[in-house]
Amino acid sequence: MAKTKKKLSLTIWIVIGLFAGIIAGLLLQGHADFANGYIKPLGTIYLNLIKMIVVPVVTLSIMQGVISLQDIRKVGTIGGRTILYFLCTTALAVVIGLIFANILNVGAGYVLPAGDIEYTASEAPNFMDTIVNIFPSNIIAPFANATMLQVIVVALFFGFGIIMAGDLGKKAAEVVDSFAEVSFKIMGMIIKISPIGVFALITPVVAAQGVEILLPLLKVILVCYVGYIVHAVLTYSSSVAAFAKMSPLKFFKEMSKPMIFAFSSASSVGVLPFNLEASEKMGVRKEIAGFVIPLGATINMDGTAIYQGVCAIFIAQIFGIDLTIGQQLTVVLTAVLASIGTAGVPGSGMIMLAMVLQSVGLPVEGIALVAGIDRILDMGRTVVNITGDAACSVCVNAWENKREAKLAAKAAAAPAEE
Ligand code: ASP
Repeated sequence: MAKTKKKLSLTIWIVIGLFAGIIAGLLLQGHADFANGYIKPLGTIYLNLIKMIVVPVVTLSIMQGVISLQDIRKVGTIGGRTILYFLCTTALAVVIGLIFANILNVGAGYVLPAGDIEYTASEAPNFMDTIVNIFPSNIIAPFANATMLQVIVVALFFGFGIIMAGDLGKKAAEVVDSFAEVSFKIMGMIIKISPIGVFALITPVVAAQGVEILLPLLKVILVCYVGYIVHAVLTYSSSVAAFAKMSPLKFFKEMSKPMIFAFSSASSVGVLPFNLEASEKMGVRKEIAGFVIPLGATINMDGTAIYQGVCAIFIAQIFGIDLTIGQQLTVVLTAVLASIGTAGVPGSGMIMLAMVLQSVGLPVEGIALVAGIDRILDMGRTVVNITGDAACSVCVNAWENKREAKLAAKAAAAPAEE
């Protein structure tokens, strides 16, 4: 009871930090140097700490998840279903973003700011290279550079190795368990300073740009949020209802804490402990939650995909470029890939937007136009990102229960036949 109360008050503190940051930013308008010199560094420290702990948390919890499934084939089934759910929902998310951006004409009425925005089309990343790069050639580099997809590959291999080593792997499994717990505790400490981190991140943004930066871009914000809400309500409600027979109301009620936390921290990885807790509360088995949620926090970003779809259309429209259906399909494909490569920390979706724009030859400089409002877009997309991970864990859990029940029924029927 006391624990819940403590966590709830942290959430409230984060919201307070957010509003205090906006107010401080408004008060500091015209003194952006002060905000950048003295307040922003606190935000940078907070982000650095999150980035520092991301690698151990994701590595250890994925290893823990794999080890507790105890059977490589089981990991394969669960992993396959998880990835299929992630890919389908992310593709749907981009499509929703593109549809609303087109229907609502997201770029209409926006006047390009005076001054040249330079256009330098750079080369799109090669698809095969992207695939090859997922597999690291040494074990240190992925951890040193926090290349998350490579880190996941290493974690999966070591998890499999520990299962295959049988009794000899037991010690390694205990070490993983122990270090996973330690990393979660460190994560907990970092989370506790989130109110300050959130305050320090938002203040310099408002101080430098003021709220007026929002006005001409209000439509982008609106269209993104419409996309976020529609996707969350349609896709997640219907999938938990259809596959897990769970009431969407119950789902969103349980998710309210991680969602508020995601909104204020804009970091999927930072929300990991809350999201794990919420899915376990919804009845997802620990080993499934421990596998799906950290994997999702790293590779499943539906909100980011919606944002990328909307921004692609916005940038195309204001530069007077018409995207054909074929090009919009390319946007779907690259946004799915980009969302896999997006790290679960604030602002990374905007960096990956470059990849989406390049894939259809849109001016990457257009990102500068939406950069000022990125935090607001990021808060919403992170909420969708983590809600998708939890919805997936609920569905995968239901599928796994069904599969096991079927196997048990078969096993029970077999001796009877003899
Ligand atoms: N901040 C997002 C997240 O953590 C990623 C993004 O920038 O789109 O999920």
